Amino acid sequence: MSSAFDFEPKPRRASVAVDVGGVIVGGGAPVVVQSMTNTDTADVDATVAQVAALHRAGSELVRITVDRDESAAAVPRIRERLLRLGLDVPLVGDFHYIGHKLLADHPACAEALAKYRINPGNVGFKDKKDKQFAEIIEMAMRYDKPVRIGVNWGSLDQDLLTRLMDENKANGSPLTAQQVTRETIVQSALISAELAEELGLPRNRIILSAKVSGVQDLIAVYAMLAARSDHALHLGLTEAGMGTKGIVASSASLGILMQQGIGDTIRISLTPEPGGDRTREVQVAQELLQVMGFRQFIPVVAACPGCGRTTSTVFQELAQKIQEDIRANMPVWREKYPGVEALKVAVMGCIVNGPGESKHADIGISLPGTGEMPAAPVFIDGQKAMTLRGPRIAEEFQLLVSDYIEKRFGGGQAAAE
Ligand code: SF4
Repeated sequence: MSSAFDFEPKPRRASVAVDVGGVIVGGGAPVVVQSMTNTDTADVDATVAQVAALHRAGSELVRITVDRDESAAAVPRIRERLLRLGLDVPLVGDFHYIGHKLLADHPACAEALAKYRINPGNVGFKDKKDKQFAEIIEMAMRYDKPVRIGVNWGSLDQDLLTRLMDENKANGSPLTAQQVTRETIVQSALISAELAEELGLPRNRIILSAKVSGVQDLIAVYAMLAARSDHALHLGLTEAGMGTKGIVASSASLGILMQQGIGDTIRISLTPEPGGDRTREVQVAQELLQVMGFRQFIPVVAACPGCGRTTSTVFQELAQKIQEDIRANMPVWREKYPGVEALKVAVMGCIVNGPGESKHADIGISLPGTGEMPAAPVFIDGQKAMTLRGPRIAEEFQLLVSDYIEKRFGGGQAAAE
């Protein structure tokens, strides 16, 4: 029974499952993490390296730009090189303006891709629009590939926008310009999906997205789209921005939508710092899904923020070291220790919340705050197990974490399950 105080996540919205190269999007499958390269796709070495890095970081689908003949010709070589590395990651081709031509001229590219992403706002203009859209849909049917119909507010179908604005005006302007724009985005996606289905592409071959850059607009547009269709939905805030702003804006909007049961796959579009790590967006997507309790990817390290009661940096350094160790070891641990992603570790700064939080974790340590005895109680499965002392507390705790993982997840005797 729900009430005004029911903050539980809503059940996932029913959507039609789409198979993207073996990864299921929608139909109640776990929310899929995806990302996109920023290399020139024609540069095979650079693109293979970045797709590999994104996939190893946890991106389950990777999108690449296919903008000209050279990049279309590179796609099958990229796919082949990835397979030789043992990376069977579905590649999504991002097409604008000339997608119909590139797919027709490069059959090996059309075959190597697991999905085609098209934008109804720039698939073609005037009388060519429907024809070129139909050509891409026919290619998708010929190669048995799904498409994402991805509307973007920066390249919105201007004919449709003008028509809806005119209609609104003729009706006495009951809607604001912002509301008409939102409606245009939703209609652009739905009309294109309907057209694709009329052309013969089944619904289980269509994913929709409607990306905008404002948080409130994004929430409104996806809520409208979710209410009016059962297509699988790809969520993403476009032009989210750099650093903390991009992370906060994406997390706020996608978090609210997923709490409402909306969204089958997500991409966090972060602008990397110059020379920054592209895999950051994958990490953020995984962390968002994990902190909301929708999926588990990596053990959680709970650490207090620190305050005037602990002026040393020991606990910050230990929390960081443990987190880095976990991230570095996860590719091996995932295979070696099934279920290890559910592990919870706590690294706390003093006696105030340290023992309590540590007891809630699988393994936790409460470091001594300023003026406290130089002793660090360690809690394992809610029980105080020992107290560490001396200058090697950090190293000893790291060994205890490794030992706990081996015992609990390595097929050895589990500590109280
Ligand atoms: S656990 Fe201690 S050090 Fe950490 S924030 Fe709380 S009072 Fe401050």
